Amino acid sequence: MNPRIETIRQWISQEKVDAVLLNKPANRAYAAGFTGSAGTVVVTPDQLYMITDFRYKSQVQEQSPAFTYLEIDKNETAIKYINNLGFKRVGIEEEFISYSLAMDYKEKIHGIELVPMKSQLTKIRSVKDAVEVDHIRKAAALADEGWDMIREKVRPGVSEKELALELEFFMRKKGADNVSFTFIVASGNRSALPHGIASDKLVEAGDFVVFDYGNVINGYCSDMTRTLVVGQATDQQKEIYDTVLKAQIASLEAVKPGITGVELDLIARNIITEAGYAEYFGHGLGHGVGIEIHELPHLNHLGTEPMVPGNIITIEPGIYLPELGGVRIEDLVLVTEDGYEVLSHSDKALVEIPV
Ligand code: ZN
Ligand code: ZN
Repeated sequence: MNPRIETIRQWISQEKVDAVLLNKPANRAYAAGFTGSAGTVVVTPDQLYMITDFRYKSQVQEQSPAFTYLEIDKNETAIKYINNLGFKRVGIEEEFISYSLAMDYKEKIHGIELVPMKSQLTKIRSVKDAVEVDHIRKAAALADEGWDMIREKVRPGVSEKELALELEFFMRKKGADNVSFTFIVASGNRSALPHGIASDKLVEAGDFVVFDYGNVINGYCSDMTRTLVVGQATDQQKEIYDTVLKAQIASLEAVKPGITGVELDLIARNIITEAGYAEYFGHGLGHGVGIEIHELPHLNHLGTEPMVPGNIITIEPGIYLPELGGVRIEDLVLVTEDGYEVLSHSDKALVEIPV
Protein backbone atom coordinates (compact mmCIF):
# COMPACT_ATOMS: atom_id res chain seq x y z
CA MET A 1 0.00 0.00 0.00
CA ASN A 2 1.09 3.51 -0.83
CA PRO A 3 2.65 4.97 2.38
CA ARG A 4 1.08 8.37 1.71
CA ILE A 5 -2.41 6.84 1.68
CA GLU A 6 -1.54 4.91 4.84
CA THR A 7 -0.63 8.18 6.56
CA ILE A 8 -3.88 9.83 5.43
CA ARG A 9 -5.84 6.83 6.71
CA GLN A 10 -4.16 7.12 10.10
CA TRP A 11 -5.13 10.80 10.15
CA ILE A 12 -8.81 10.10 9.37
CA SER A 13 -8.94 7.36 11.96
CA GLN A 14 -7.58 9.78 14.61
CA GLU A 15 -10.23 12.31 13.59
CA LYS A 16 -12.91 9.59 13.70
CA VAL A 17 -14.28 10.44 10.26
CA ASP A 18 -15.40 8.02 7.54
CA ALA A 19 -13.67 10.01 4.80
CA VAL A 20 -11.74 13.17 4.08
CA LEU A 21 -12.38 15.39 1.06
CA LEU A 22 -9.22 16.96 -0.36
CA ASN A 23 -9.67 19.98 -2.61
CA LYS A 24 -6.40 21.83 -2.14
CA PRO A 25 -4.29 21.23 -5.29
CA ALA A 26 -1.10 20.47 -3.32
CA ASN A 27 -2.96 17.92 -1.17
CA ARG A 28 -4.59 16.30 -4.22
CA ALA A 29 -1.15 16.03 -5.80
CA TYR A 30 0.36 14.54 -2.64
CA ALA A 31 -2.42 12.00 -2.08
CA ALA A 32 -3.16 10.98 -5.65
CA GLY A 33 -0.32 12.27 -7.82
CA PHE A 34 -3.06 14.22 -9.62
CA THR A 35 -1.98 17.56 -11.12
CA GLY A 36 -5.26 18.59 -12.77
CA SER A 37 -6.78 21.89 -11.70
CA ALA A 38 -10.20 20.65 -10.56
CA GLY A 39 -11.45 17.72 -8.54
CA THR A 40 -12.06 16.28 -5.10
CA VAL A 41 -9.96 13.43 -3.73
CA VAL A 42 -11.90 11.22 -1.32
CA VAL A 43 -9.94 8.91 0.98
CA THR A 44 -11.87 6.43 3.16
CA PRO A 45 -10.51 3.54 5.24
CA ASP A 46 -10.93 1.18 2.28
CA GLN A 47 -11.76 3.23 -0.83
CA LEU A 48 -10.12 5.92 -2.96
CA TYR A 49 -12.21 8.16 -5.22
CA MET A 50 -11.37 11.01 -7.56
CA ILE A 51 -14.45 13.08 -8.29
CA THR A 52 -13.85 15.33 -11.28
CA ASP A 53 -15.13 16.15 -14.75
CA PHE A 54 -14.58 14.61 -18.15
CA ARG A 55 -11.62 16.88 -19.01
CA TYR A 56 -9.52 14.93 -16.49
CA LYS A 57 -10.80 11.39 -17.09
CA SER A 58 -7.70 10.04 -18.81
CA GLN A 59 -5.43 12.07 -16.53
CA VAL A 60 -6.92 10.33 -13.48
CA GLN A 61 -6.39 6.93 -15.12
CA GLU A 62 -2.79 7.83 -15.87
CA GLN A 63 -1.74 9.68 -12.71
CA SER A 64 -4.01 8.12 -10.10
CA PRO A 65 -4.66 4.51 -11.16
CA ALA A 66 -5.55 3.41 -7.61
CA PHE A 67 -8.45 5.89 -7.53
CA THR A 68 -11.98 5.21 -8.81
CA TYR A 69 -12.98 7.96 -11.24
CA LEU A 70 -16.43 9.41 -10.50
CA GLU A 71 -17.62 11.84 -13.12
CA ILE A 72 -19.40 15.11 -12.48
CA ASP A 73 -20.40 17.92 -14.78
CA LYS A 74 -17.91 20.81 -14.91
CA ASN A 75 -20.35 22.95 -12.90
CA GLU A 76 -21.22 20.32 -10.29
CA THR A 77 -19.41 19.56 -7.05
CA ALA A 78 -18.52 16.33 -5.29
CA ILE A 79 -21.83 16.59 -3.38
CA LYS A 80 -23.47 14.54 -6.13
CA TYR A 81 -21.68 11.45 -4.82
CA ILE A 82 -20.95 12.29 -1.17
CA ASN A 83 -24.61 11.85 -0.19
CA ASN A 84 -24.64 8.31 -1.58
CA LEU A 85 -21.40 6.80 -0.28
CA GLY A 86 -22.79 5.84 3.13
CA PHE A 87 -20.76 8.28 5.23
CA LYS A 88 -21.75 9.55 8.69
CA ARG A 89 -18.85 11.93 9.38
CA VAL A 90 -16.78 13.55 6.63
CA GLY A 91 -13.71 15.74 7.07
CA ILE A 92 -13.21 18.89 4.99
CA GLU A 93 -10.15 21.15 4.69
CA GLU A 94 -11.18 24.06 6.88
CA GLU A 95 -8.18 26.20 5.90
CA PHE A 96 -8.74 25.84 2.18
CA ILE A 97 -12.30 25.43 0.92
CA SER A 98 -14.16 28.58 -0.08
CA TYR A 99 -17.04 30.05 1.88
CA SER A 100 -19.42 29.36 -1.00
CA LEU A 101 -18.40 25.69 -1.24
CA ALA A 102 -18.75 25.30 2.54
CA MET A 103 -22.26 26.83 2.33
CA ASP A 104 -23.10 24.52 -0.55
CA TYR A 105 -21.94 21.48 1.44
CA LYS A 106 -24.01 22.62 4.42
CA GLU A 107 -27.13 23.10 2.36
CA LYS A 108 -26.97 20.05 0.11
CA ILE A 109 -25.29 17.35 2.18
CA HIS A 110 -27.92 15.55 4.24
CA GLY A 111 -27.56 13.36 7.30
CA ILE A 112 -23.75 13.61 7.28
CA GLU A 113 -21.77 15.52 9.88
CA LEU A 114 -19.15 17.77 8.24
CA VAL A 115 -15.99 17.97 10.32
CA PRO A 116 -13.69 20.95 9.65
CA MET A 117 -10.14 19.57 9.84
CA LYS A 118 -6.90 21.50 10.06
CA SER A 119 -4.67 20.02 7.45
CA GLN A 120 -2.38 17.47 9.01
CA LEU A 121 -1.21 16.97 5.46
CA THR A 122 0.63 20.27 5.56
CA LYS A 123 2.72 18.85 8.36
CA ILE A 124 3.03 15.40 6.81
CA ARG A 125 4.16 16.98 3.52
CA SER A 126 6.99 18.83 5.28
CA VAL A 127 8.93 15.55 5.59
CA LYS A 128 10.04 14.47 2.14
CA ASP A 129 10.62 10.88 1.04
CA ALA A 130 13.53 9.88 -1.23
CA VAL A 131 11.51 10.36 -4.42
CA GLU A 132 10.45 13.88 -3.43
CA VAL A 133 14.02 14.79 -2.46
CA ASP A 134 15.16 13.59 -5.87
CA HIS A 135 12.64 15.83 -7.71
CA ILE A 136 13.69 18.88 -5.66
CA ARG A 137 17.37 18.06 -6.12
CA LYS A 138 16.82 18.09 -9.91
CA ALA A 139 14.90 21.38 -9.77
CA ALA A 140 17.72 22.92 -7.68
CA ALA A 141 20.38 21.67 -10.12
CA LEU A 142 18.49 23.26 -13.02
CA ALA A 143 18.33 26.56 -11.11
CA ASP A 144 22.13 26.34 -10.71
CA GLU A 145 22.49 25.92 -14.46
CA GLY A 146 20.21 28.93 -14.89
CA TRP A 147 22.49 31.03 -12.71
CA ASP A 148 25.60 30.16 -14.73
CA MET A 149 23.72 31.26 -17.84
CA ILE A 150 21.98 34.41 -16.61
CA ARG A 151 24.94 36.00 -14.80
CA GLU A 152 26.66 36.24 -18.19
CA LYS A 153 23.71 38.23 -19.60
CA VAL A 154 23.74 41.00 -17.00
CA ARG A 155 24.99 44.32 -18.40
CA PRO A 156 23.98 47.98 -18.23
CA GLY A 157 20.92 48.60 -20.41
CA VAL A 158 19.29 45.17 -20.16
CA SER A 159 15.86 45.23 -18.50
CA GLU A 160 14.87 43.22 -15.44
CA LYS A 161 11.98 41.71 -17.41
CA GLU A 162 14.29 40.57 -20.19
CA LEU A 163 16.58 38.85 -17.68
CA ALA A 164 13.60 37.15 -16.00
CA LEU A 165 12.29 35.96 -19.36
CA GLU A 166 15.68 34.60 -20.49
CA LEU A 167 16.04 32.71 -17.24
CA GLU A 168 12.56 31.20 -17.52
CA PHE A 169 13.04 30.29 -21.19
CA PHE A 170 16.37 28.62 -20.43
CA MET A 171 15.03 26.45 -17.60
CA ARG A 172 11.86 25.51 -19.48
CA LYS A 173 13.87 24.51 -22.51
CA LYS A 174 15.96 22.30 -20.26
CA GLY A 175 12.89 20.48 -18.97
CA ALA A 176 11.28 22.54 -16.18
CA ASP A 177 7.50 21.93 -16.06
CA ASN A 178 6.90 25.44 -14.82
CA VAL A 179 8.36 28.27 -12.77
CA SER A 180 7.79 27.94 -9.04
CA PHE A 181 6.76 31.62 -8.66
CA THR A 182 6.99 34.92 -10.56
CA PHE A 183 10.70 35.67 -10.65
CA ILE A 184 12.20 38.48 -8.65
CA VAL A 185 14.79 40.37 -10.67
CA ALA A 186 15.34 43.65 -8.84
CA SER A 187 18.14 46.10 -9.58
CA GLY A 188 19.41 49.33 -8.05
CA ASN A 189 16.92 50.89 -5.59
CA ARG A 190 14.44 48.16 -6.47
CA SER A 191 16.75 45.51 -4.99
CA ALA A 192 15.68 46.90 -1.61
CA LEU A 193 12.18 45.50 -2.27
CA PRO A 194 12.30 41.96 -0.88
CA HIS A 195 9.57 40.94 -3.36
CA GLY A 196 10.44 43.18 -6.32
CA ILE A 197 9.21 41.20 -9.31
CA ALA A 198 10.96 41.99 -12.59
CA SER A 199 10.00 45.42 -14.00
CA ASP A 200 10.87 47.48 -17.09
CA LYS A 201 13.76 49.10 -15.21
CA LEU A 202 17.07 48.88 -17.03
CA VAL A 203 20.10 47.61 -15.16
CA GLU A 204 22.68 50.35 -14.54
CA ALA A 205 26.35 50.37 -13.55
CA GLY A 206 26.65 50.41 -9.76
CA ASP A 207 23.42 48.42 -9.21
CA PHE A 208 22.97 45.47 -6.96
CA VAL A 209 20.83 42.95 -8.89
CA VAL A 210 18.87 40.38 -6.86
CA PHE A 211 17.68 37.22 -8.67
CA ASP A 212 15.21 35.09 -6.71
CA TYR A 213 13.72 32.29 -8.79
CA GLY A 214 12.97 28.62 -9.09
CA ASN A 215 11.42 25.97 -11.28
CA VAL A 216 9.13 22.97 -10.95
CA ILE A 217 10.16 19.41 -11.82
CA ASN A 218 7.65 16.54 -11.45
CA GLY A 219 5.45 18.81 -9.35
CA TYR A 220 8.19 19.93 -6.92
CA CYS A 221 9.63 23.44 -6.54
CA SER A 222 13.10 24.85 -6.17
CA ASP A 223 13.97 28.28 -4.77
CA MET A 224 17.30 30.16 -4.84
CA THR A 225 18.53 33.75 -4.61
CA ARG A 226 21.81 35.25 -5.74
CA THR A 227 22.82 38.93 -5.76
CA LEU A 228 25.53 40.49 -7.92
CA VAL A 229 26.97 43.95 -8.49
CA VAL A 230 27.22 45.62 -11.89
CA GLY A 231 30.72 47.11 -12.03
CA GLN A 232 33.11 47.24 -9.09
CA ALA A 233 31.46 46.98 -5.69
CA THR A 234 31.85 49.96 -3.36
CA ASP A 235 33.16 49.39 0.17
CA GLN A 236 29.61 49.72 1.52
CA GLN A 237 28.24 47.23 -1.01
CA LYS A 238 31.01 44.80 -0.04
CA GLU A 239 30.27 45.27 3.66
CA ILE A 240 26.56 44.55 3.21
CA TYR A 241 27.20 41.58 0.97
CA ASP A 242 29.78 40.09 3.35
CA THR A 243 27.44 40.54 6.32
CA VAL A 244 24.56 38.75 4.57
CA LEU A 245 26.89 35.97 3.42
CA LYS A 246 28.33 35.51 6.91
CA ALA A 247 24.79 35.34 8.37
CA GLN A 248 23.68 32.92 5.65
CA ILE A 249 26.61 30.55 6.15
CA ALA A 250 26.38 30.64 9.95
CA SER A 251 22.69 29.64 10.03
CA LEU A 252 23.21 27.12 7.24
CA GLU A 253 26.00 25.38 9.13
CA ALA A 254 23.78 25.11 12.21
CA VAL A 255 21.07 23.12 10.40
CA LYS A 256 20.50 19.70 11.98
CA PRO A 257 17.63 17.65 13.39
CA GLY A 258 16.33 19.13 16.66
CA ILE A 259 17.15 22.77 16.01
CA THR A 260 14.12 25.05 15.53
CA GLY A 261 13.38 27.66 12.89
CA VAL A 262 13.38 30.31 15.62
CA GLU A 263 16.93 29.34 16.61
CA LEU A 264 18.20 29.30 13.02
CA ASP A 265 16.60 32.68 12.35
CA LEU A 266 18.28 34.11 15.44
CA ILE A 267 21.76 33.02 14.36
CA ALA A 268 21.51 35.06 11.15
CA ARG A 269 19.68 37.92 12.85
CA ASN A 270 22.35 38.31 15.55
CA ILE A 271 25.10 38.65 12.94
CA ILE A 272 23.11 41.23 11.00
CA THR A 273 22.25 43.08 14.22
CA GLU A 274 25.90 43.17 15.36
CA ALA A 275 26.82 44.72 12.02
CA GLY A 276 24.25 47.48 12.66
CA TYR A 277 21.59 46.44 10.13
CA ALA A 278 18.92 44.90 12.40
CA GLU A 279 16.09 47.09 11.10
CA TYR A 280 16.97 46.28 7.48
CA PHE A 281 16.33 42.54 7.76
CA GLY A 282 12.54 42.72 7.94
CA HIS A 283 11.52 39.17 7.06
CA GLY A 284 12.01 35.65 8.38
CA LEU A 285 15.06 33.52 7.61
CA GLY A 286 13.30 31.10 5.27
CA HIS A 287 10.57 28.51 4.76
CA GLY A 288 9.93 24.90 3.80
CA VAL A 289 9.69 24.04 0.09
CA GLY A 290 7.96 21.15 -1.68
CA ILE A 291 4.85 20.84 -3.86
CA GLU A 292 4.19 24.43 -2.79
CA ILE A 293 6.84 27.11 -2.75
CA HIS A 294 6.01 28.05 0.85
CA GLU A 295 5.44 25.07 3.13
CA LEU A 296 6.24 23.99 6.65
CA PRO A 297 8.47 24.15 8.59
CA HIS A 298 8.48 27.83 9.50
CA LEU A 299 11.87 29.54 9.78
CA ASN A 300 10.70 32.67 11.54
CA HIS A 301 9.14 33.53 14.92
CA LEU A 302 6.52 30.79 14.32
CA GLY A 303 9.16 28.07 13.87
CA THR A 304 9.05 26.43 17.29
CA GLU A 305 8.94 22.83 16.01
CA PRO A 306 12.30 21.03 15.87
CA MET A 307 13.67 20.22 12.40
CA VAL A 308 13.53 16.56 11.37
CA PRO A 309 15.41 14.63 8.68
CA GLY A 310 13.58 15.05 5.36
CA ASN A 311 12.64 18.70 5.86
CA ILE A 312 13.67 20.82 2.88
CA ILE A 313 14.12 24.47 3.82
CA THR A 314 15.53 27.73 2.54
CA ILE A 315 18.09 29.86 4.35
CA GLU A 316 17.72 33.39 2.98
CA PRO A 317 18.77 36.34 5.11
CA GLY A 318 18.91 39.78 3.51
CA ILE A 319 19.71 43.43 4.17
CA TYR A 320 17.63 46.07 2.37
CA LEU A 321 18.70 49.73 2.42
CA PRO A 322 16.10 51.93 0.70
CA GLU A 323 18.72 54.30 -0.79
CA LEU A 324 21.44 51.85 -1.70
CA GLY A 325 19.57 48.66 -2.56
CA GLY A 326 19.45 45.20 -1.09
CA VAL A 327 21.24 41.87 -0.89
CA ARG A 328 19.71 38.46 -0.31
CA ILE A 329 21.43 35.08 -0.55
CA GLU A 330 19.26 31.96 -0.49
CA ASP A 331 20.09 28.28 -0.61
CA LEU A 332 17.83 25.23 -0.60
CA VAL A 333 18.86 22.83 2.18
CA LEU A 334 17.91 19.26 3.08
CA VAL A 335 17.91 18.31 6.77
CA THR A 336 19.70 14.95 7.06
CA GLU A 337 20.14 12.45 9.93
CA ASP A 338 23.37 14.06 11.03
CA GLY A 339 23.12 17.63 9.77
CA TYR A 340 22.35 19.06 6.39
CA GLU A 341 22.99 18.87 2.68
CA VAL A 342 22.95 22.02 0.56
CA LEU A 343 20.98 21.43 -2.65
CA SER A 344 21.91 24.78 -4.26
CA HIS A 345 25.46 24.66 -5.60
CA SER A 346 25.88 28.08 -7.22
CA ASP A 347 28.92 29.94 -5.90
CA LYS A 348 28.24 32.64 -3.31
CA ALA A 349 31.38 34.79 -3.66
CA LEU A 350 30.41 38.31 -4.76
CA VAL A 351 30.14 38.56 -8.55
CA GLU A 352 31.19 41.91 -10.03
CA ILE A 353 30.08 42.27 -13.66
CA PRO A 354 32.73 44.08 -15.71
CA VAL A 355 31.33 47.25 -17.33
ZN1 ZN B 1 13.45 32.60 -3.12
ZN1 ZN C 1 12.43 31.48 -0.54
